Amino acid sequence: MMMQNQHLKKYMGKAKRQFCDLFFLTFFISIFPLSLIADDKLKEIERGFDYIVKSELKTTYQTQSFLRQASSNTNLNIHFARLEIALDPNETFLKGSVTKYFIPKENTNTLSIDLHQEMQVDSVKINNQPVGYQHLAHKIEITGSATFPAGITDSVTIWYSGEPPSGGFGSYSREFVDNSPVIWTLSQPFGASNWWPSVNNLANKIDSLDFYISVPEPFKAVSNGLLKEVKPETNGYQTWKWSHRYPIAVYLVAFAVGDYVFFEDTVMLDGKEMPLVHYVYPSSEAGFRTQVDETIALLEFFSDLFGEYPFIDEKYGHVQCGFSGGMEHQTISFMGSYDYQLIAHELAHQWFGNKITCASWSEIWLNEGFATYLAGLAYEFLKPIYRLPYQNFHLQRILSEPDGSVYVYEADNVQRIFNGRLSYSKASFLLHMIRWKIGDEDFFDAIRNYISDPQLAYGFATTDDLKYHFENTSGKSLSLFFENWLYSEGHPQVTLNWHQNESGELTMRFVQKTSHSSVDFFPLKIPVRVFGAGDSIDYVFDTNFPEQVFAENINFSIDSIQLDPDIWLVMEKEVVPDPDIKNNLRANPFRIYPVPANDELNVRFLFSISEPVVMNILDVSGRKVLAHEEQSLILKNTDITLNTDNLSAGVYFLEVISGGESFQKKFVKQ
Ligand SMILES: [Zn+2]
Repeated sequence: MMMQNQHLKKYMGKAKRQFCDLFFLTFFISIFPLSLIADDKLKEIERGFDYIVKSELKTTYQTQSFLRQASSNTNLNIHFARLEIALDPNETFLKGSVTKYFIPKENTNTLSIDLHQEMQVDSVKINNQPVGYQHLAHKIEITGSATFPAGITDSVTIWYSGEPPSGGFGSYSREFVDNSPVIWTLSQPFGASNWWPSVNNLANKIDSLDFYISVPEPFKAVSNGLLKEVKPETNGYQTWKWSHRYPIAVYLVAFAVGDYVFFEDTVMLDGKEMPLVHYVYPSSEAGFRTQVDETIALLEFFSDLFGEYPFIDEKYGHVQCGFSGGMEHQTISFMGSYDYQLIAHELAHQWFGNKITCASWSEIWLNEGFATYLAGLAYEFLKPIYRLPYQNFHLQRILSEPDGSVYVYEADNVQRIFNGRLSYSKASFLLHMIRWKIGDEDFFDAIRNYISDPQLAYGFATTDDLKYHFENTSGKSLSLFFENWLYSEGHPQVTLNWHQNESGELTMRFVQKTSHSSVDFFPLKIPVRVFGAGDSIDYVFDTNFPEQVFAENINFSIDSIQLDPDIWLVMEKEVVPDPDIKNNLRANPFRIYPVPANDELNVRFLFSISEPVVMNILDVSGRKVLAHEEQSLILKNTDITLNTDNLSAGVYFLEVISGGESFQKKFVKQ
């Protein structure tokens, strides 16, 4: 289904208006080095982004030695889980039980549930009857007692206890704030079974979850979904009963316990009221109260652009934790700070990451690329002064190294999965470049179609699912784009040589190399801004070959030229005036490809030739083995194809004769 983006237009107007208000500043940012003008903005963005990546990396890093790989158990469809735990945050010890109502996809007499070996299993019951089990190699195997038929709901309850293994930034963490303990979990990607018996994979979501957490007063326990009740217990404990009625990936189930200050707002989204809740450390309250106000505008903005907030019947919220970044637990982001960029990033994940979750850690870019890009959209449309510094920050990160693919080929390497340069910065630029390629209208329509696709919503998605929506909406193929930018490595390095002659004609030669051998050439639609006489004109040139020449008549004297001034593309760029460009082109007027040649050799002229052209292929002894003549005008950037099928493999020369001049190029036939 196609949808119109009236809401985007509303923000476009707003962004343009603000651009006008800030005209002088943005103008200078676009023509002078960003580092001179927007240093403070850049620093702010840099700091904010560091927080995000550091935490999303650090918090997962320590769990990798325990459980590096996701569970392979994809047979269980868990439609309801009730998790009940009790703990005193003055200790790390935890005890509890989990009851899962499941439907096997195939007949089985084995149930396999992940739980770290350092945790103890106290007992297991199926349909209220004790059963035998083994707890080996981080798995509870329940075997032999019964057959679980496919398609029939059954239930299992596991009682367990222990001190969940985890380092200071791991899946189960504790720290003291103002002498008061705080405990939080962060399971992404493999840490869930460090603290609760779970089926740790990206194949099934738990359809519905109740999470009861008993803690001593005055501690508060925070989790996914809605707080239904705080029930006093006899021993000075209270049980915080949370209920979540949306499908949830296992790594997004989380809780935090601390002596928090609680405050809330009510937001009106699409005519529905929803609570916006915050749990913060008492000493941080004042600062956070002002910062989190930004959340409301962001909720409205993302809802307008990408459809209703995915958990509208429950809540959104923040809970403060002891790491320096954030983690997008479903309906409740865990925050180390309240930086604008971080608030936007974690909120964006509620659509991209939580409503639709990447189907494998190899495609983490579907989570992190979107969250990073949506924080950029928030800057672009709500705080436009930050847009270029944000884009430039990510661009410089990407260009700082020549290699690495956005697709994660080592899906069990946590550091690689959460590589900030590739899985965040470059991933977000993939989206940005697709937007540039297919245009705003199709770009935002396609994403709305993707995020509301009933096959994907509240489930998992692959790159191909997203690609389908971009292609289906725009009618353009993105196969080569994804091949080059997602699965391969590196980026283009573009040099523009230019000269304006006395009659005003501007000649431009684009030469592209690549930073990594996995891609020979990136087709690019390159924006160019030509400055002069206190004015500027924008052009876009489609480059489809490593070397291409264009000419334009410009009616003012050119001062300078900028490539990609608004930062749409990932490329290293260099602009070099070349007063001798015509002579240089004349001395070297054509290119041949492919090299080496196969059954065809293409000859590409870099400027138009009006006189007849003779082309001869000579072998190494100078004997003419092929002759070709062109009588009509050859337009620049067109190809003449010579059939070299009959030539035997070896070294040859192409001789081109025109207007009394002759040029030769050596080539190899395979
Ligand atoms: Zn993220």
